[in-house]
Amino acid sequence: MEKLILYNTLTRRKEEFRTIEPGIVKMYCCGPTVYNFAHIGNLRAYFFEDILKRVLLYNGYNVKHVMNITDVGHLVSDDDEGEDKMEKGSAREGKTVWEIANFYTEAFKKDISLLNIIPPTIYCKATDNIKEQIDMIKCLEAKGYTYTTADGVYYDTSKFPEYGKLAMLDIEGLEEGKRIQFSDEKKNKTDFALWKFSPKDEKRQMEWESPWGVGFPGWHIECSAMSQKYLGETFDIHCGGVDHIPIHHTNEIAQAEACSGKQFVNYWLHGEFLIEDKGKMSKSSGEFLRLQTLIDKGYSPLDYRYFLLMTHYRKKIKFSFDNLDAARNGFNNLKSKIAEIKSLVKDSDSVDVARTGKYLERFSECINDDLNAGEGLALLWELLKNETLNYAEKILLVSVFDNIFGLDLEKVEAVKTNADVPAEIIDLAEKRIEAKKSKNFKLADELRDLIKQKGYEVVDEKGGAYSLKQL
Ligand code: AMP
Ligand code: ZN
Repeated sequence: MEKLILYNTLTRRKEEFRTIEPGIVKMYCCGPTVYNFAHIGNLRAYFFEDILKRVLLYNGYNVKHVMNITDVGHLVSDDDEGEDKMEKGSAREGKTVWEIANFYTEAFKKDISLLNIIPPTIYCKATDNIKEQIDMIKCLEAKGYTYTTADGVYYDTSKFPEYGKLAMLDIEGLEEGKRIQFSDEKKNKTDFALWKFSPKDEKRQMEWESPWGVGFPGWHIECSAMSQKYLGETFDIHCGGVDHIPIHHTNEIAQAEACSGKQFVNYWLHGEFLIEDKGKMSKSSGEFLRLQTLIDKGYSPLDYRYFLLMTHYRKKIKFSFDNLDAARNGFNNLKSKIAEIKSLVKDSDSVDVARTGKYLERFSECINDDLNAGEGLALLWELLKNETLNYAEKILLVSVFDNIFGLDLEKVEAVKTNADVPAEIIDLAEKRIEAKKSKNFKLADELRDLIKQKGYEVVDEKGGAYSLKQL
């Protein structure tokens, strides 16, 4: 098997992947904030993590995959200012924050299941782990990393010399900016809240007692606390979208490493954004595209998966319905090709290990080169057209490759050739073609219905041809 090479944001290099414990990968992925549906951009992040997980499994690793559900304390801006997203969702829908969190957590799980994304080994909710977060803040306080302002307990980033190493932040440049724009109680522009106090005159729906007063956790602490709870002080992989590099993941490192005194994560992987013509896709800005929007427009979730598969995870994707249409056509052509091959395969076809092995090796080279599944897809197309492979070999390779693609290619059914269909049905189908030619669409539709009543579906193919599928 090829070595697995992954691009590590921490070093800005492609590196050979090595686990801490042999055969086991401990991986944490930042999950959804459940105050609204996921948009199709968010789903790209979970898709990229799914490809990563499938590649790890393909390489024989056992993967312990943890994902958090942010159901509290996530403020609209990265600077700990603005409204709480959960409370905003609650006000918008006239439900409690707990109901909002449950509803959108279930919606999220449904979306990822429709996209054939393998669920994590463990989902953990921020609200189920308040004690762990308070314990970590206590640890930071004991080590002298915190200070208290009127509205919360803050992390003093000047106390952590490696602050910003993941993002390669220009701290001095940011500090200069601070003199012009910054005027609150924060000591450094990059300082962030660990614990926020509930407003004195307001009862929040979600708030907890703490050694510092009633309030709620800042939005970075849950990931440091929960990832270490489930995966240990140092673990293998941490993922998220690229937007998390400069703030969220930077702060996760500052919290976790200051507390444990050890390296937090060995490999940081980040997925690029899906963008729209009008720019960034954002949940907090109202209108956005959901998976259900695509389904309502007649696309299948797997059309969208195929669309995502075509582009490497570290490249931006511009979303448009034209691009999605092109992907759907490609996916339909792929399924037709596989259906045709399935109908041609014979029981007597035997698989030549040397011939399939050559393709399996090339496939490993693609996916193990920083998860280049798109190139793997191009390889699939190449082998389907290759006349030196027999049909059984092609079908075998399709099913192996689909462990990574997750496109349900094994479920594609063989085309029922017209030869297997009773003469009466073929006769009706031929009459329907005649009716279409003479533009008698009413009769053509009636014949289609009649064929259906008799248990067959006519599928129109290119160039006026048709095939018949048994229902
Ligand atoms: P959120 O629910 O906003 O915390 O985001 C969930 C995940 O989606 C995070 O890993 C983000 O980095 C990622 N994300 C947000 N917007 C996009 C986008 N337009 N394209 C790809 N990933 C995104
Ligand atoms: Zn996180």
